[in-house]
Amino acid sequence: MEILVCVKRVPDTAENEITIKGDGTDIQRDDLVYSVNEWDNYATEEAIQIRDNVGGTVTVVTVGDSESEEILRRQMAMGADNGILLADGAFDGSDARGIASILAAAVKKGKYDLILTGAQADDGAGAVGGMLAAMLDLPYASLVNKVEVAGNKLKVGREIEGGNQEMNEIDLPCVLSIQTGINEPRYVGIRGIRKVASVEIPTHNAGALGVSGVGKAGAQVKRVDYFTPPAGKGAEILEGSMEEKIDKLIELLKAKGGLK
Ligand SMILES: Cc1cc2nc3c(=O)[nH]c(=O)nc-3n(C[C@H](O)[C@H](O)[C@H](O)COP(=O)(O)OP(=O)(O)OC[C@H]3O[C@@H](n4cnc5c(N)ncnc54)[C@H](O)[C@@H]3O)c2cc1C
Repeated sequence: MEILVCVKRVPDTAENEITIKGDGTDIQRDDLVYSVNEWDNYATEEAIQIRDNVGGTVTVVTVGDSESEEILRRQMAMGADNGILLADGAFDGSDARGIASILAAAVKKGKYDLILTGAQADDGAGAVGGMLAAMLDLPYASLVNKVEVAGNKLKVGREIEGGNQEMNEIDLPCVLSIQTGINEPRYVGIRGIRKVASVEIPTHNAGALGVSGVGKAGAQVKRVDYFTPPAGKGAEILEGSMEEKIDKLIELLKAKGGLK
């Protein structure tokens, strides 16, 4: 099975204190530590397990810049066979439709049976997977937490409200958005990263992909402000170090009967 996994380089929330830029256009990105979007890491692990069971290849692709190569290499160290970087200044400031159009163009350059995205990324839109499927006119299942190959179809489990589970049969080729918890992503060691350090990663720009109307100018959803809403009535923001915040939280939960 030929599998393409869409992966995004995002600020690592475990490593950074995220603050918003004074002009309200974006988060403060200076000196941030980046990593692969958590959902995309589960998607890559799932793709590797499917390939190991039924054969084929796993390709990871990202829309980013030269710095995004690091996450492609990380996913290759994990076990993906190939990486593709989609980079062009013309892609900067794309909305979800723009990102999906760029990815759709890359999909059309290859021949894939299965395309995986994460259920969501750092901007929390949860939009790219569904848009990508629509642009490719492929069947789509979202929030997938189980995948079984059944001939030229897949059986996929979906997480439903209230902790319930749904099973679906879906024709290949298709697009799935993967939910966290579907598997246990493997550890990526420094030795693995070194092994793929010099593997060449093909880069495609807007011209090579034949995409236009993306980027800031093409965005039809325009971010006009970015801010932390003022604390509402009854809300309490815990201050102090992480340990102090945890102690205060435990105290509060005990006081309100949430903890014995
Ligand atoms: C500086 C800046 C300016 C922006 N301006 C705007 C704006 O004006 N309007 C607007 O609507 N949005 C804007 N965005 C948001 C940006 O377009 C989002 O990345 C996009 O909308 C996708 O949303 P998401 O990250 O929530 O992805 P989701 O839709 O939640 O992601 C789902 C999945 O799609 C795939 N995916 C998402 N992004 C990528 C990628 N880059 N490469 C490969 N796979 C990917 C991954 O598999 C991911 O798990 C801006 C972002 C930045 C950093």
